[in-house]
Amino acid sequence: MSLLLNPIEPPKLIKSWINNDAAHGSGRELPVFYPATGEQVSILVEDGPEDVNKAVISARKAFDNTSWSKQSIEKRIEILESCRKVILDNLDELARLECLATGLILREIKGFHLQRAAYNFRFFAQYISQTHGERFDNTEGYLTLVNREPAGVIGLIAPWNAPLALATMKIAASIAFGNCAILKPSEQTPFSLAKLVSLLSNILPPGVLNLVNGRGPVTGSHLVAHPGIDRISFTGGTVTGRSVMMEAGKQLTPCSMELGGKSANIIFSSADYQRALDGALIGIYSNNGQQCLAGSRILVEEKIFDQFVAEFIERTKQIVVGDPLKDETEIGPIASKRHMERILSFADLAVKDGDKLLVGGHKSDIHEKGYFMEPTAVLAKSNKSRVCQEEIFGPFASFIPFRSEDEAIEIANDTEFGLVSYIWSDHMPTIMNMSEAMRSGVVWVNTPMMRELRAPFGGFKNSGVAREGGYSCEQFYTEEKTISLPKSPLNLIKFGSR
Ligand code: NDP
Repeated sequence: MSLLLNPIEPPKLIKSWINNDAAHGSGRELPVFYPATGEQVSILVEDGPEDVNKAVISARKAFDNTSWSKQSIEKRIEILESCRKVILDNLDELARLECLATGLILREIKGFHLQRAAYNFRFFAQYISQTHGERFDNTEGYLTLVNREPAGVIGLIAPWNAPLALATMKIAASIAFGNCAILKPSEQTPFSLAKLVSLLSNILPPGVLNLVNGRGPVTGSHLVAHPGIDRISFTGGTVTGRSVMMEAGKQLTPCSMELGGKSANIIFSSADYQRALDGALIGIYSNNGQQCLAGSRILVEEKIFDQFVAEFIERTKQIVVGDPLKDETEIGPIASKRHMERILSFADLAVKDGDKLLVGGHKSDIHEKGYFMEPTAVLAKSNKSRVCQEEIFGPFASFIPFRSEDEAIEIANDTEFGLVSYIWSDHMPTIMNMSEAMRSGVVWVNTPMMRELRAPFGGFKNSGVAREGGYSCEQFYTEEKTISLPKSPLNLIKFGSR
């Protein structure tokens, strides 16, 4: 058993942030744990309905009474660039706070998550410098203008698997388009976002960005049900997403939902074999296996199936599971004890269901109380197995063989989800046929994952509603207004003058 050190001395108490001031919630105190040691490292103060109400009032006031929504584009761009800079200037501290709550590998947090978080602000700064409205010239002598105006007060609900990278997309998009926002992180991972909001309070006017903390069914649902909210942007699981959307629907609050996935990683014999193998491993094991876009069902053409699976297992056995602070670590601890137990329960379930456990399936003994598990793969009896139908959200792959493109399409699409698909082949007709046949919002060809922020990201079926990305965010975070006016006085019917 190794002695694992904490990445950073955490704050003793995590508070919320309302109107650019730290606020003490009126709810319960909740423990926060470091996943690598299972040790309680801090306390989060939960926000109840009155606290959420204060945050909404603060955002509403900032939206209605200050010039934020009418701020010049130049000024907003300058502010967004300052937000980016403050992230990069505080990269080490933010990364260590992120690691402390999530157990993600520090190297990956610094090299990817924080870079993405900073870039999200630059991306929207650049995006709003080019936005434009529409103008229709009518031959009957009037002109119609279509304005895009800020939508209002936005509720932002973020998950625990990549708090900074995912929440900053929502924060940056909200404020770039002139809105005010209230962020609710997962109560499991509050540190980095609390720090970020406190840093941004030195840049943003009071009320533009507020933070409430607490459990989803408590603080989150008060936020969703609040009548002062104009939009909900949610990233999380499909089951939660459905209940959030039903609650929001009572007030017709529009929602953007980025939900779960059970994505197919489809490997043809015509693929560059080594790249496909590397890609399949990255697809399921990166981010400690906890990512919506994981390629968790690995479909391999029968001709190469045995060899591919054998080499995948060999590589899996070599993966370094361990201390998230060490550079050589490839998979860190799972984010919570409960989640680790849930993932491992799928290994038992697979065996009971007649799937074959190929590798892993157990808790790892790296640290007695830490939430470490062995990376796991099973050979599924068929795509109907529960390990192929349910989102496991961990380092857990399921293998399924296929014989033809048609069979691969049928298996890949046989799921309630439709977030992403991966296709590995060097045969162009196969690439085109498969790309068009996938019922998913994103198709990645010969690459594990690649995100172009100008393009829409989101899912078909139960993987989401609406999209995130440049124009998709512009549509979601703004209201359209049509203004019609005559170019010169039009002849009017004169009521009451006959
Ligand atoms: P959850 O759905 O459990 O939670 C997501 C967020 O919603 C958390 O902040 C949670 O708070 C909050 N929440 C929970 N219940 C409610 C409620 N009744 N009302 C309002 N808010 C609520 O997801 P996880 O945090 O477990 O994240 C993992 C899931 O997120 C996976 O399914 C994954 O696929 C999905 N995801 C999707 C992405 C995408 O882009 N499509 C990207 C990343 C993840 P709390 O945790 O405090 O209870």
